[in-house]
Amino acid sequence: MALVTTSKIYEAIARVADMQAAGIKVASLTAGEPDFDTPEHVIAAATRAMREGDTHYTPVRGSLALREAVRQKFHQENGLAFSDDQTIVGTGSKQVIFNALAVTLQQGDEVLLPVPFWAAYTGMTYAAGGVPAFVQTSRDTGYKLTPEDLSAAITPRTRWLILNTPSNPAGVIYSESELEALGGVLRNFPDVFILSDEIYEHLHYTAERPKSLLSACPDLADRVLTVNGVSKAYAMTGWRLGFGSGPKDLIEAMANLQAQTTLGPSSVSQAAAVAALSGPRTSIDYMVDAYRQRRDLIVDMVDSHPLVNLQRPDGAFYALLDMAAVLRGSKQFGDHEAPDAAFCEWLLKDRHVAAVPGSVFGAPGTVRISFATDSATIEHGLGTMLKAVSEIE
Ligand code: PLP
Repeated sequence: MALVTTSKIYEAIARVADMQAAGIKVASLTAGEPDFDTPEHVIAAATRAMREGDTHYTPVRGSLALREAVRQKFHQENGLAFSDDQTIVGTGSKQVIFNALAVTLQQGDEVLLPVPFWAAYTGMTYAAGGVPAFVQTSRDTGYKLTPEDLSAAITPRTRWLILNTPSNPAGVIYSESELEALGGVLRNFPDVFILSDEIYEHLHYTAERPKSLLSACPDLADRVLTVNGVSKAYAMTGWRLGFGSGPKDLIEAMANLQAQTTLGPSSVSQAAAVAALSGPRTSIDYMVDAYRQRRDLIVDMVDSHPLVNLQRPDGAFYALLDMAAVLRGSKQFGDHEAPDAAFCEWLLKDRHVAAVPGSVFGAPGTVRISFATDSATIEHGLGTMLKAVSEIE
């Protein structure tokens, strides 16, 4: 557990809250959650559930109604057919991911993480007794894992590959053919399981919806766990509701762990999630339109800056700004162990703009900004940051 450190992202968010409580106005670009409210019909369904007495323990894997809604979602949106015993609902997709690792990892087993990665994967891996094994990517490959690098990274200790598409923090979306190519490698390593984290599936700025790994590689069905949830697409982060579908034995082991620890998630959240998954799509379209406009604003602002590079994010609501060269060469930050962290610290203290250092995601020299906030905050916060970069000696 000594390897499980606190979440640097939540640390940054807490610092902003402290400064704001002290009367300092901070432009925060740290948020990992929609700045929209949960849709009204979802709240109505939750209220109704409470009034009608849906306030008791639920089955371990989640209520029958929600498991059915999840099955329908995977079938209709992703073309994936799962039986009921292949589905589990958890307290956020975080719990689903952690439980999967906890029931499969032996001490020292490796979990492959393409860099940059969502930081929580490393903490969960350590907590489950495993070791993260990082696979570098670069801006040249669009921050995507290549089949060659995947093949070279797999060892006899590799238990899992975690693939996140669309991704946090770079907004990367793997195309169907890229997923097929990775599947081609994985076919040669039958002991490696694949966790496909598709939590940002609906937040894409491409014409086509992102492909689910399993729909691109159906023959890997006996070792793919597909994870999703309602947090991001339906602005429901606080309801803590995620789900996963995969091989029956794996789901059963995860359910056994859940039975002895937390049981099924909140009954009210489950009722809300049924309404979200089976209700109208208008709120998603509305939010995605707003995110797209903000994404375009960021791309325009960064494009004209000579020292900061950005690969246009195709999905999720983050932009990973690459300023490695200027930070490394700078008088003020260059000597620090993590110049991006030193820069973000200074930016917060001196300029009152909060962003997350890329070293948190294994990408030193980059800075993650979130566009799950209004355009005025983005314009001011990012504008201040870009001006500060220009002034670095
Ligand atoms: N996966 C990724 C890549 C995320 O960025 C997040 C949240 O930030 C999650 C999963 C967790 O979402 P949930 O709210 O469902 O636990």
